Amino acid sequence: MDVYERFTGEELYGDFDAEGACRRLSEAVRLKSVSDCPDPAPFLELHSLIKRCFPRVMEEGSFETVDRSVLIRIPGSDPSLLPALFMSHLDVVPVVEGTEKDWTHDAYSGDIAGGYIWGRGTQDIKCQVFGELEAAEYLLSRGLKPARTMYFAFGQDEETFNRGSKAVSDLLMSRGVRLEFVLDEGGGGMQSGELFGAPKICVMPIDLMEKGYADLKLTVRSTGGHSSRPFGGTSLARLARAITRITEAPFPAELCPTLKQGLKTVAPYIEDPQFKALIDGIDENGQAVADVFMGTKDFFPYVTTTIAPTMISGGSSAPNVMPQNMEAVINFRIAAGHTPEEVMEHCRKAVDDDSVEMEFLQANPASAEARFDGLGYAELTKALARFYSDVVFVPFITAGGTDAHNYEQICDTCLRCSPFVSPEEEQHGAHGTNERMSVRSFIQGIRVLISMMESSCCFK
Ligand SMILES: [Zn+2]
Repeated sequence: MDVYERFTGEELYGDFDAEGACRRLSEAVRLKSVSDCPDPAPFLELHSLIKRCFPRVMEEGSFETVDRSVLIRIPGSDPSLLPALFMSHLDVVPVVEGTEKDWTHDAYSGDIAGGYIWGRGTQDIKCQVFGELEAAEYLLSRGLKPARTMYFAFGQDEETFNRGSKAVSDLLMSRGVRLEFVLDEGGGGMQSGELFGAPKICVMPIDLMEKGYADLKLTVRSTGGHSSRPFGGTSLARLARAITRITEAPFPAELCPTLKQGLKTVAPYIEDPQFKALIDGIDENGQAVADVFMGTKDFFPYVTTTIAPTMISGGSSAPNVMPQNMEAVINFRIAAGHTPEEVMEHCRKAVDDDSVEMEFLQANPASAEARFDGLGYAELTKALARFYSDVVFVPFITAGGTDAHNYEQICDTCLRCSPFVSPEEEQHGAHGTNERMSVRSFIQGIRVLISMMESSCCFK
């Protein structure tokens, strides 16, 4: 799909300093703010860069750091309006060792060449940190002021522990702040509606929730011994049986409100009459839809808690020696409305063997589902529609995790959508080699943000 064909309104905000915006993003890419790097310097330099690049934001707003994370507040003139939060993260994933030479432009060069800004973080997701600040700077520099208070929060460890965003959210909560909406990374991008049985339309997902996550470690203990006396089974046999029992006890198929809403949105465009009839009647036959999706490769992750055994260790190194202690890890992605505690209970019941020890290495429940009938969703889709034509915006579920769930304690509308639509996402996108952002996509995303901010925060 040629995403540029759907770009529209590129003539708007003609006085926006596009060249400067690219230069500023490029400077940010040069700072190696890899999550949890021992040296805080790249993050501190990123803080100073932000202060230096956005003088109007600094003048109108207050800038504070929470460890390596950033919180900026621009007060609005109308305290009766709940504040909005525009967020993103400062950290990037490292370049995979040994692949440094595969980059056409060095991973931290920030080179602007061939219509692209090159480097780690251009897509994930310094574009959104700087894009949001560019938008605010632009509006403020035209002498406009927001009626709604605006916050900007940029976490330091989205790619690892999400502790930065939790600390910022806790700080806001301690100050009694409640938010109208949150805009974070996620969703976005254009794709064919084929996935939904509507191949003629182009869809853009707006992610309203994240699945939960759990790594479950199974341990089976044994002293080993000679394989001629395997009374009671080997540790390997018992571990394998436990894994099989878990994978053969799937979690139920369920349709969450977000997916249901997404399907209702695309229903008018579905071509297959049988599938269309099913989706048209989704209010009555939600379970039937969930059951159908359970059997499809693309949709089953969205209707159930998935079970993926990923690691095993401790096997014997000789054919005639029984293994001693063995361990395995199963990764779960937890469906909407469910918790790690339920996963544990489900697994204990399925395994039904007290000699198999189970513990979570890490676990968090599925996020809440953001409102799609409120101001935040309406303002976001209105702004996106202004700059991306013939696109159907679809409430959806994010595949990976983001920082956004940490703000649920102070907001019922945590939206995950990056407004930057780059043709490079597939091949050279986030976390990959030659990560790069097209200049045209970057500037178009900023237009969306200007438009959304101006309208939702009532700039006058
Ligand atoms: Zn990210």
